[in-house]
Amino acid sequence: MTVRAGREFLAIPGPTTMPDEVLRAMHRPAIDIYSDQMINLTDSLLRDLSKLFATKGKTYIYIANGHGAWEGVLSNVLSRGDKVLVLESGRFAIGWGLAAAAMGADVEVLKGDWRRAIRPHEVEARLKLDKEHKIKAILAVQVDTASGAYNDIEAIAKAIKAAGHPALFMVDTVASLACMPFEMDQWGVDVAMSGSQKGLMTPPGLGFVAANARALEVHRKAGLRTPYWDWTEREGSEHYRKYAGTAPVHLLFALRQAIDMIFEEGLPNIFRRHQLLAEAVRRAVTVWAEGQVLGLNIAEAGERSDTVTTVTVEAGHDPAALQRYCKEKCGVVLGTGIGDLHGQAFRIAHMGHVNAPMILGTLGVVEVGLNALKIPHGKGGMEAAIAWLGEQVSA
Ligand SMILES: *Cc1c(COP(=O)(O)O)cnc(C)c1O
Repeated sequence: MTVRAGREFLAIPGPTTMPDEVLRAMHRPAIDIYSDQMINLTDSLLRDLSKLFATKGKTYIYIANGHGAWEGVLSNVLSRGDKVLVLESGRFAIGWGLAAAAMGADVEVLKGDWRRAIRPHEVEARLKLDKEHKIKAILAVQVDTASGAYNDIEAIAKAIKAAGHPALFMVDTVASLACMPFEMDQWGVDVAMSGSQKGLMTPPGLGFVAANARALEVHRKAGLRTPYWDWTEREGSEHYRKYAGTAPVHLLFALRQAIDMIFEEGLPNIFRRHQLLAEAVRRAVTVWAEGQVLGLNIAEAGERSDTVTTVTVEAGHDPAALQRYCKEKCGVVLGTGIGDLHGQAFRIAHMGHVNAPMILGTLGVVEVGLNALKIPHGKGGMEAAIAWLGEQVSA
């Protein structure tokens, strides 16, 4: 017996649930890519992406996933042998650093911990040791999708300033843009990147990069530039150069619709919605944790992301069995533990097009699974989530 008929629900951190309006926006013929309609579409998207990054800098759209956008950033500002400092808080900045190393950069990882966010004072201390300013770029993620850590990008930028270090500060916002506040210019971020398939509620396949004036200056002398990624090439006068070839028209239709929906709801409301739903998840997990098997991976409450929650599972209990149950019996797909947490955690995503029934439904199904598999857990997780939303979402 299963109770999974109907639409399977993705509670994984990307690709996320796409609104029906976004899906429908793609169901139409391609347009003339040399038309004014195409040019206007591109211009509107570049303008609105800059608004989402909160920058007066330049924004670029790549036909790529997040890994592609990572390379897009690196190739535009680095030369072979340049030193790069990676700030660890899980898996994703490390992955970005591996790409930099493969491209010929000299990569150093500032050791972090999978249970916590980056410590700004440790960044400042490391940079102060670099008296010759050998470090050319600093890589960090705003949200690490593996650990569930939320990094205080503003505080890290301040630490870099306090160290008086000129390295470019480059931030991955794939798992946070349009879900949690991000202020590229105000915080002092030089380059930011993101992708379409998480908070932006659009199919996978678009990567976004924003660069400020300092980054564009460094770009002029970067040795790793290649034609596809090159910012200068994309500033060429012919419209097709904005995409280094054919525009991904259907993905752009989808993105246009998604951004329209984002602006219609309003970023402050979206941020608050994510915060409320994330806290509902955390409250449920906190109650479940009383059973001594489950727990929140990130130790400090203030360092937990509002877009994904990583739930640890003690040895002797198999998170894969719970995931299998939730998917095959109830039609809810949870994220797996990845990297250092492989086999020791599962993840609940709450990013993008999510609402109360999706999150309460997911929590309810997890609780059904915990009961069915006899995994010890505190009783009343769902009630705690429900009570929280009832208190916070006023009548
Ligand atoms: C998902 C993700 C990526 C990678 O994106 P892909 O589109 O899968 O290549 C990079 N960084 C973060 C923080 C992510 O969550």
